[in-house]
Amino acid sequence: MLLQLSLGFLFAALIAFAAYRAHSLSKSGAWGALLEGTIIFGLGGWRWAVLLLAFFVSSSALTRLFGKKKASLNEKFDKGGTRDIGQVLANGAIASIFASLHFFFPALSWTWVAFAASLAAVNADTWATELGVLNPSLPRLVTSWKPVECGSSGAVSLYGTLATTGGAAFIAILGALLGPAGRGWANLEIIIIAGVLGSLFDSLLGATIQAIYRCPHCDKETEKHPLHTCGTETVQIRGLSWLNNDMVNLGCALVGAVIGMIL
Ligand SMILES: [Zn+2]
Repeated sequence: MLLQLSLGFLFAALIAFAAYRAHSLSKSGAWGALLEGTIIFGLGGWRWAVLLLAFFVSSSALTRLFGKKKASLNEKFDKGGTRDIGQVLANGAIASIFASLHFFFPALSWTWVAFAASLAAVNADTWATELGVLNPSLPRLVTSWKPVECGSSGAVSLYGTLATTGGAAFIAILGALLGPAGRGWANLEIIIIAGVLGSLFDSLLGATIQAIYRCPHCDKETEKHPLHTCGTETVQIRGLSWLNNDMVNLGCALVGAVIGMIL
C-alpha cells in the first residue's frame, strides 16, 4: 500500500508539474491536482488514474484548441485557461472521495460506477463549455429557451449538447472497459446517462441560482467577481452570492455520482 501511495504521489507530481509548466494549472491548481492524483492513483490504483487522466488531458487540450475563436469570449468565463485550486477541487473532489471509499471498503460494488459517473459529468460539462462556443448560431437559455450571448451560464446549443454526450461517452467507454468484469456494457449506459444529467444540472443552476455579475465598464455579463478582466469591480445582477461557478461544478460532479449510484 505504501508503495502504491508513493508511486501515486510521484506520478501525480510529474503530471501536476508538467501542467503547471504548460499553464494548464496555476500554482494552487497544481497543488490541488497533486492531492487528488495521489488519492486517486494511490488509493484507487491505475484503472482509477486512467479515468482521471482521460478527463484532465482531454479537458486541457480542448481548452487550448480554437484559442483565437474563444479569446473574444473568454472574458465571460470566471477564469481563463489556467485552472486554479478551486476549479481542480470542484472537478475532482467527489471522484477522490469514491476512490478513498473503494480503498477502505473494497467490498462496496458501486464505488467504481459512482467514481466514473462523477468524472463523466464534469468531463461532459467541460467539453460542452469548450466546444459549445463554436456553435454557428446563438445558444439558448435552458430555462426560458431565449437566445442569449455566446458563453453565458446556463446556455445550451446543438454543438454543446453533442459535446456533452461525447464527453460523457468518452469517460463511460473507459469506465466500462476498465471496470469490474462482466458489468462492462451495463455500466456504459449508466455512466453516460449520469454524466449527461449531471451536466444538465450544471446548466440549470447556471440559468437560475448561480451568482452572475455585470461589468459596468464593459457592459457585459460575467461570472467574474470581484474584478472583471478589465480590472473594474463587477456588480451582482442575479443568483445567490455564495453559489459561484466552482460550487456549481461540484454540484454537477455530485449529481452525476448520485445518479450513477441510483441506476
Ligand atoms: Zn470589464
